[in-house]
Order: sequence, then C-alpha cells, then structure tokens
Amino acid sequence: MSDRIPFSATTRAVRASIATDHEHGAVVPPIHLTSTFAFEGFNKPRKFDYTRSGNPTRSQLADALAELEGGAGAVVTSTGMSAVTLAVQLLNPGDTIVAAHDCYGGTQRLLRGLAKRGHFSVVFADLTQPDALARAGVERPRIVWIETPSNPLLRITDIRATAERAHASGAIVVVDNTFLSPALQQPIALGADLVVHSTTKYLNGHSDVVGGAVIASTKVLADELAWWANCLGITGAPFDSYLTLRGIRTLFPRIREHLANAEAVVDALCAHPAVSRVYYPGLPDHPGHEIARAQQSGFGAMVSFEVIGGRKSVELLTAHLRCFTLAESLGGVESLIAHPATMTHSSMEPEARAIAGISDSLLRLSVGIESPEDLVHDLTNALDRVVENANVAPAPRISVGLSRNAEVADLVLLGAGAIGRELISQLTEDQATPLRLCGIVDRSGYVFAEGGIARERLSELRALKAAGHPLSEASDGRSASALEALQTIATSRLARPILVDATPADTSIVLETALAKGFDVVLANKVPLAAEQDAVDRLHRIADQSGRTILHEATVGAGLPVIDTLRKLLEAGDEIISIEGCPSGTLGFLFGELGRGERFSDALQRAIALGYTEPDPRIDLCGLDVARKALILARAIGFRGELSDVHVESLVPAPFSQGSREQFLARVAELDDSWAKRVNEARRKGRVLRYRAHVTPTAIVVGLAPVKLTDPLGVLHGTDNQFTFTTSRYRSQPLVITGPGAGPAVTAAGVFNDLLRLERTRGRRNREGRRATGGERPAARPFTHASPSA
Ligand code: PLP
Repeated sequence: MSDRIPFSATTRAVRASIATDHEHGAVVPPIHLTSTFAFEGFNKPRKFDYTRSGNPTRSQLADALAELEGGAGAVVTSTGMSAVTLAVQLLNPGDTIVAAHDCYGGTQRLLRGLAKRGHFSVVFADLTQPDALARAGVERPRIVWIETPSNPLLRITDIRATAERAHASGAIVVVDNTFLSPALQQPIALGADLVVHSTTKYLNGHSDVVGGAVIASTKVLADELAWWANCLGITGAPFDSYLTLRGIRTLFPRIREHLANAEAVVDALCAHPAVSRVYYPGLPDHPGHEIARAQQSGFGAMVSFEVIGGRKSVELLTAHLRCFTLAESLGGVESLIAHPATMTHSSMEPEARAIAGISDSLLRLSVGIESPEDLVHDLTNALDRVVENANVAPAPRISVGLSRNAEVADLVLLGAGAIGRELISQLTEDQATPLRLCGIVDRSGYVFAEGGIARERLSELRALKAAGHPLSEASDGRSASALEALQTIATSRLARPILVDATPADTSIVLETALAKGFDVVLANKVPLAAEQDAVDRLHRIADQSGRTILHEATVGAGLPVIDTLRKLLEAGDEIISIEGCPSGTLGFLFGELGRGERFSDALQRAIALGYTEPDPRIDLCGLDVARKALILARAIGFRGELSDVHVESLVPAPFSQGSREQFLARVAELDDSWAKRVNEARRKGRVLRYRAHVTPTAIVVGLAPVKLTDPLGVLHGTDNQFTFTTSRYRSQPLVITGPGAGPAVTAAGVFNDLLRLERTRGRRNREGRRATGGERPAARPFTHASPSA
C-alpha cells in the first residue's frame, strides 16, 4: 500500500497488505509464525533475521498503522504499556516529561515508578487548560504527554494548541490516541510527534489481543524507537499482529456503528430519570465539545454517566444488564460497562476520586456494535429497575454534557449575614423566580428542606439570624460544620444545584467539595478568589473537571457589571492595559463625607450604621478588602501572584491595628484631626482624596491618592464605585463604569443577577441542544461523517 494518493482511509485500512504475497498470490498475506530466518548464505542475512528485531507480519501491521496515522513509521509492541515504555525511552536522566494529570492509570504508574528511580522527572498537569504548560513551571520539558479524550470523564485537550506551546519550548509531543483510533482523530496532522496506541482497543476491536504501537512523525524518530524496541525486547508477536491487522480492515465500518450506537445510548441516558449526569463530548454543553468538534471526526463511543441512588443502584443496574458486560477494557465490538470507583480507579483515595469527579455513582460504557435497539432496550430496562428499587421519584439533575430542562434550580446559601439575609428577602419577594432556596448554612449548622424551604419559614429564619441566633438553634436546625452540612445536603435529590457563598470566610474546601459534587457556585465572598494562587487554580480546575460554573460578579463592585465587562472585553480579544478605580463603596462614602467637612469618626460611624463596612471596619480601612478586589481583577487579566504581592497603603495607624473592634471604635476620634488636615491640604491644591487601586497584568498598587476634581474619580457620589478600563481598543478614551458599589441590597442584587444569568445560560443551552437535533430531547450534535484523511 505504498500508493497513498488515490484511496480513502477506509479503503487503505481494508486493503492493508492485501494481495502482496508474491510466492503463491495469497490475497490475505500469510502469517509468519517463525522466530528466526535462514540466511541466504554465509554473511548474507535477508531482510528479516530474527523475529524480535523484525517480522514480515508485524511489519505489515506497522505499515498499516503508519499510513492510517499519517506517520513516517511505526513500531508494533507487545502491549499498550510496552508502547508507552518505548516512547519514554526518548528521555534521559535530567529530562522532564509533563503528562496529563488524568492520563491512563498504567501510564501514570509507569511514569511515577521510573521517575522515582531517577530515570527522568515527571510533572502532571491539567492539559485541558490552555495555560497548563506555563503553569506547570517546567521551563524546557522534553516530552509533553497528551491523552484525549481522557478516562473516564472524557475531557478534551486541544492537541494543536498544546503542541504549538510544547514545540515552542523544544518538547516532543506524544498523544495517546487509544480512545478514538485514527478513524476519528489523527494527532500527527494536529502537530504531534508520536502517537501511542493500545491496539488492544479499537484498532484490533475484538477483545482478543493485547498489543500496542508507537507511530512516529519522522523516520529519525521511528528508527530510534525501532532500535529501542528490539533492544528492550518489547516488540509484538506475529500472531497478535496478524489478528490486529485483520481487525484494522474493519475499523471504519466498526467505528461508524460504534458512533451511531453511542448516540442512541446517550439519547436514552439523557432521557432516563435514573440518570443524573451524562459525560459525552458530543453533547453541546460538554466543556470540551467545541474542541472535540474541531479536532475529531466523531465523538467516540465511550460514554460515562451517573445513576441516582449511589452504589446500590450501580450494583442493581449492572446485575440487570444483558448486553453490557461488566469488564475493564474498551473498544471491542461487544458493549462493556465498568464502575471506575471499584475497577479502573480503585487504587485512588476516595478523596482524590471525589476531587477528580469520579463518584461512586459513575459508570463508563464502551458502546459496542450490537443492534442499537437492543442496547437501548437493555439499558432502559436496567435503569427502570433502579428507579423502582431506589424508591425515589425520578429527579433529573443538571449534568456535564447533559441538557435538562428542570423547572427550578435548588439553592444552598452559605452564610446568613447581612448579604445572605438580604438575598433571602429578594428571593422570597420575587414570586416568579426559578430559584428555590433549599438550604441555609452558617458557622453553627444548617437548615435544609428537600423541595425548598417554605416562604414563611424563610422569613422566620431570617429574623432568627438578624436577632443574632445561630441556625443550629432553629427548631429544624442541625449542628454541623459547613463542610459536613454541604456533604449531607449533597446526598439529597437536588435539581440543578447552586451554592451561593455570602460569607467573608475562607471557604475554599467547601466550594471545592460543592463543585466536585455537581453544584455551580455563585460568590459574593472575595476570600476564596483572593486566596493563594494554587488554591484558586485548584478551584477553577475542579470546576472545569466537573463542568461547573463559578460566577462572582458581586466580589468586585457589588452589583456593577465589572467582571462581566472584563469578560466581554477579553472574549473580544481586547488587551487590558490597566484598570484603575475606586472599588470600595465604603471608602468612597468615607472620603465623600470627609470632603464635605464631616469628622472622620462620625463618617465611619455612619458607614457602619448603614451596613457599608465589613463587621470590623479596619478591614476596609487597612486596604485589605480593596487589595482582594484588585487581586481578583488582576488575576482575571493574567496577573499571577499573591495578596502579599499587592502594594497596599493602610489607613489604620499601627497603634490602632491591635485590640478589639470595640476598642478601636472607642479611640477612633483621635484620628479626626490628622484626617481633617490631610483633606484640607488636598483641597488647597484643588484636589480630593480617594482610595484608589491601580491594576495591570504585572503589578497592583492600592492606596490613598489626591485626585483633581475634573478626574472621573473626583466626582464620585455616596457609595459609588468606579472602574476605568484602559485597553488596546479603549486607549485614548478609557471605558468607565460608575455606580453604587456597597451595601447588602446592592451586593445581594449582584448575586441575584448572577443566579438568574446562570439559569438563563443553562436554559439557552437546553434550547440549543434541542434545536441541534430537532427532536424533543437534547442530544449529541452529530458530525457530518467524512473519512478523516480522505
Ligand atoms: N493507554 C490507554 C488510554 C489505555 O486505556 C490503556 C489500557 O487500558 C493503555 C494505554 C495500556 O494498554 P494495554 O492494556 O494494552 O497495555
């Protein structure tokens, strides 16, 4: 098959090595089951001399694989793992490999094991993130190891973009293409240097061989790998090669059947009330959907989903299936089902599994090529048993890659301080809201009602909290830490759950858990996003892994659309040069009052009485609150650093920073004179004092500044915030946003807006999903199927 041009990939796969036997004209080439080959004469070896180094049958398979993957050569190995072993022979001590953190467990085990023995260093990174390589902190990796889609959550890595970045730092890019096969994805065309396969899977396709292959983009790499494969003795056996080549002849028609069946199965899963989530890159709201559409020519036949009712339901389901065999592996003509928590991923700690999004309710299907009606019927029948036996009403939940049109979203509110209570009021006042408050959590415990806390009860709870009582004292209150409360609440049936964080605490662990358990998150709380960079990265990573959204408009500018504006500018490709402004309504209010001749202590007391300050006003005065907001804005435009990197001018003199809040307030009048002097001095120069933040992608400065009355900041009113965006498009006339930026009512309104926006986006996704198929249910957007390399 050296004549590549005229034939499609399908034809080339079918005809690989057909009619190449010159001795007898056998249409199917004979299998060479020999370990050694006779020399033609003394010192006259033939093309093959010993099967470890070369064998005609294995060569035919290698040629077929190189053709299908568009490579310059291939080495056939004894297993997928020996193919992985072979590829990492390109590493020397001192080299670093950056590998996908969710790559195949056996690959991880090998990389960790060899790294431990000093063969090379390994760094695992979430390569689905565009800046993963930069974040990994490895200056010159030797190899970047991609696996896409990943197992079992089918997350997608952008091969072309990752390869470009990897090549820029001089690395070789390896892609494990096992889950799709060259029929659906050709990594070399997207920039990969090597492609690795467990041919055990789709390439052989009949679950009767274990084998592997490495396909190289250049002859130099192919030769180096062939040398190592012979040296290590890991080449594939002739009989296995023969069977795999036979499997490859039917790869394309098999894959067509796999894809059609996978779509039918996904539709059935999406429609079934026993299924709470479906993970499939073909669904429009799968986080990797668009990349998968661009780089694959089909979404594959691996599908993961979660059932209601936990492990008991998993057991019941697997016991009732007749067309899906409970087994590891994938890619065969027969359908398989696996339970990652007890099978492929059982070696992981439960906590690590939870963070990776692998719950006890998760199942993975390798959809085979049986009749789609039988598969759907079998699956539906077993899922019906789950509903019957789980003894729960069918309650679909929001999902990754699954669009559902539940009427309401269930909210859990973390924190019932001024903002939380205000949000409760706004929610209860809005009769038409699609949001239902089911749980309220405070430091002492929680109150929860599946199906929503009644309106009157909400008013009572709000009054209880306003009177200073903890929720654990409510008649229906339970004592628990916030984390315990959330974990318990998450075991209930919730529709499209959302966690609202209206606390001022470091709630990172609670938020991580919520995201991993399927909650979207809306934040008024700045602390988790201004926490250490690693913690913030982890939060976003977990959200991405579990396909969840974090909205946080109210963390900066209360109800003003600051984050939203920033997002729009960035999405439009604008470059943010700087953001300058007064992001503290409290300090804006204070300096407004001072400018009118008010005494500092009186102005501060009024700000406290109006609820504009943090419980301890020194948090506002020391600049920490502004520093956090500035850090959140800066991180949104690429700043990577910590709160300690922000240059902050504190307005609390050192002797006043110690002691209780009450002690501070008792002494605060001592500051009046010095403030009056500063204000007057500025006024003499035609200026007013403002507490200002200046943010660029590389530096953040927060502090007091005298500004001209003609400056936009000079005319701020009340608690107004102001943000000035200087961007490459708004350079000569910067974009200014001004408006009320403090107080529980405005902040709660900002949160409410985020909640409604979240709901709208989900609704829109649902509608788009339905439109895409024209049917009742959302389903995979099908590809127009074309031979990838035809
Ligand atoms: N790569 C991937 C993505 C796999 O799923 C597997 C096995 O499941 C391997 C590599 C290893 O292949 P083998 O089991 O053939 O050694």
